[in-house]
Amino acid sequence: MSLKKSLRSFKKKLHHQSHTYATIRRVYPHLETLSNEEILDYYQVKNLQELEKHIEHIKVVLKNKLKSYKEELKALDTCFCLDAQGDFKYLYPTKKEAEAQIAYSLKTKRIKLTLYPCPYHAGWHLSRI
Ligand SMILES: [Zn+2]
Repeated sequence: MSLKKSLRSFKKKLHHQSHTYATIRRVYPHLETLSNEEILDYYQVKNLQELEKHIEHIKVVLKNKLKSYKEELKALDTCFCLDAQGDFKYLYPTKKEAEAQIAYSLKTKRIKLTLYPCPYHAGWHLSRI
């Protein structure tokens, strides 16, 4: 491959990358200020390829939901994710709040928690490690 050609494909790749991250930031306002690495972190993936796979998965999940169900979620501004006991999970709107709760639980209850993004709604959930 010539240098010019490989440079071009590199540029193309770069453009494609920034496009994926830019789209995520536009669609999810709560991710707007995150860096590319933090976005990967948010979706718990290692690289862009995995991120795109994950996004495709979310699209399929969302498409399979009834429209009214989605609207209902929006109206409630929460999700219907359940914990192991069958209770509704608390939805943290920001990563900071979720992290604060992790620190609090560890300090006061010696419970180790981890955070993960809600697959259906903008926000974070906690789960036991
Ligand atoms: Zn949820």
